[in-house]
Order: sequence, then C-alpha cells, then structure tokens
Amino acid sequence: MLKPGATIGILGGGQLGRMLALAAARLGLQCHVYCPEPDSPAFDVVRRSTQADYDDETALEAFAAGVDVVTYEFENVPAHTAAFLSARKPVLPNPKVLATTQDRLTEKEFVNSLGIPTAPFVPVATAAELARAAESIGKPSILKTRRFGYDGKGQTKLMPDTDPASALKEVGDAPSILEGFVPFEREVSVIAARAADGRVVCYDVTENEHGDHILRRSTVPAAITPAVAAEAVRIAGRIATALDYVGVLAVELFVVGTPGGHRVLVNEIAPRVHNSGHWTLDGASISQFEQHIRAIAGWPLAEPVRHGRRVEMRNLIGREIEDFAQWLTVPGATVHLYGKGGWRHGRKMGHVTRIYED
Ligand code: AMP
Repeated sequence: MLKPGATIGILGGGQLGRMLALAAARLGLQCHVYCPEPDSPAFDVVRRSTQADYDDETALEAFAAGVDVVTYEFENVPAHTAAFLSARKPVLPNPKVLATTQDRLTEKEFVNSLGIPTAPFVPVATAAELARAAESIGKPSILKTRRFGYDGKGQTKLMPDTDPASALKEVGDAPSILEGFVPFEREVSVIAARAADGRVVCYDVTENEHGDHILRRSTVPAAITPAVAAEAVRIAGRIATALDYVGVLAVELFVVGTPGGHRVLVNEIAPRVHNSGHWTLDGASISQFEQHIRAIAGWPLAEPVRHGRRVEMRNLIGREIEDFAQWLTVPGATVHLYGKGGWRHGRKMGHVTRIYED
C-alpha cells in the first residue's frame, strides 16, 4: 500500500494522464508523467515529467528509479517498455494485459475463451483471404486492423460491391480481422475497477453515442433493462478477473435486440480509464480516475454513489472547443478543458458533464 507522498509513474501524457494526475494529487500522491510528445496535456499538472521515447532506456531507468509504481493511460505501450519497467517497479495493470488487448484478434479470442460472445470475426492478411472471409462473415462487415486502431482509424466497411484489395489497401494492408456487422440497438460500456485483492466495483452502465467513430455523448443510466445491465456488469467483472487486472478498465459492448429479448456482445476492452467514464468526475462520489489511482496504490476501492437521476457527458471535439464558454453558465454543467494548444478536426479538446436532478 503506497503512502501519501509516494510517486506514481504514468506512461502517456494525454488528457487521461492529466486527469489521473489531478486525481492522484487530491489524494496527496505525486505523479511523474513519461511521454515522447512535447507539450503533453499531463505535463502541465505534475511536478516531474520526462519527455523521451519509449525505447530510451536511460530515460526509462531514471523514471523507474524515481517512482513507486508505474501505470499507463494508453494501451499501445510497447511490450519492451513494459517489460523493462516491470523488471524494476510494479507495472499495473500487469503487462500481460497489454499483450492481450493490443491485438484485436488476441483480444477477441480471449473474450470468446471466457464464453463471452463478440461479433463473428476472421483474421485476414491478403485480398484472397479477405474475399474468403467475406463469404463466411457476409456483408456488410467491418475490416479492422489488428493493431493501433482507435476512433475509427484503421477501419473500413465492406459493402456488397467493395473490392477486397482496395478495402485492405484502405487499412494500410495491415494484418486485420473481418468482423460481422452488428445491428445493435445501442452501445454501452462498463467502467470497472479491480483491486489487488480481487474485489471488483463497477459504475452504472453507460450508454454511448458515436459520430464519425468518435464518442460524442455518454448518458447514465443506459436505457437498458436491469437484466441487460446485470449481464454487462457480469461480463466486465469476468474479464477483469480473468486478466488478473488491477486498476480501471472499460468494456465496450453492443446491445442487440433478439426475438426473446436482448444479447450483449463485447466490442472492445480498453485497459485504462476511458472517455465513456468521464461522467464520473462530477456525476459520482468517486471518479474513475481516483478509483484507478486507489487500485494501483493498493488502497481500498470506493463504492461510488451517482449524483443526479441522470448524468450526461459531451465531448468538445475540434472546433466545438470555441463554444466552451456557453457551457459555463448551464445549470448542472461542469466544463473540463484539456489545455491542448490548437484544435484540429476530430481532436478531443475537453468535455462537459451535466447532472440532471429530474
Ligand atoms: P471500435 O474501434 O471497434 O470500437 O469501433 C468504433 C465504432 O464503430 C463502434 O463504437 C461502433 O459504433 C462501430 N462498430 C465497430 N464494430 C462494429 C460492428 N462489428 N458492427 C457495427 N458497428 C461497429
């Protein structure tokens, strides 16, 4: 169990790292952020930071020497970085989690191995394999690169008239999976925290709306039946336990209508705090960021209490940041800005949480 004053090392300096560091500060913990990009949003809020590449062993050595535990705010931490650091200090969640979740194929096979359903998928690397996969999966379907996809990048939809070679080219001819198109009623996520002693605590299931593959809005509670919510929470807990996870993770799910009711399929696991959990900053007694810090510090998890009957989170994306001031006076709204320099199309610049009492 870390003592107040201990130092947490965070790999990655984006808004998630920034909000983790702010939560740690509230608990009297220090953070040291390690990130290759200059001007990283998390650098602004910590006393110590390192701007260096993930393969710079001199910088990693010094970083490891100065921290008590290492965590990460993104899932593409290189395997050798995680291995180098875990030989020196505890890395939480454990680096095996990264190996499982960095590759969509490994991740989906892992989820299915737990008896939890996903969309049907087939690995493909060539146009001929893709053509064969499309025959078994059907169209429309979605071609996704196995690695490094986010916010819809490295993804393309296969329609009946799509040429396999050009679809594969669109995703950079990278090793991929072809995934069946899921006619979902809604997309939901579960933000779950697991402590080192195995205790799992989940937030209320969140409903998510995407535009251009980017999360636009999350609403809590999701408009789902208690049975579907219980199933989503059960799935998240099962995944966290099977990964021997310590910290916060997000499980993104599709809710599909069936003649008899609903089915819940896993879309993706994010081994980190997640955009769809930002509502917890103001909408719950303990945020996902504090919950993560508590878990990796070996502190007890909180049983979070939701504020308000309904909580909403809207992302401020790209030029929407220019309208931030209009949210400042909206009743029940709290504005969070990430301190990023200029806006770019599709760039997450901040978010607004809003609590509704009725
Ligand atoms: P992903 O990067 O896998 O999370 O996909 C981004 C978004 O694309 C999801 O949140 C869905 O809105 C949509 N999507 C991804 N996979 C599928 C699928 N198999 N069927 C239907 N929509 C999908």
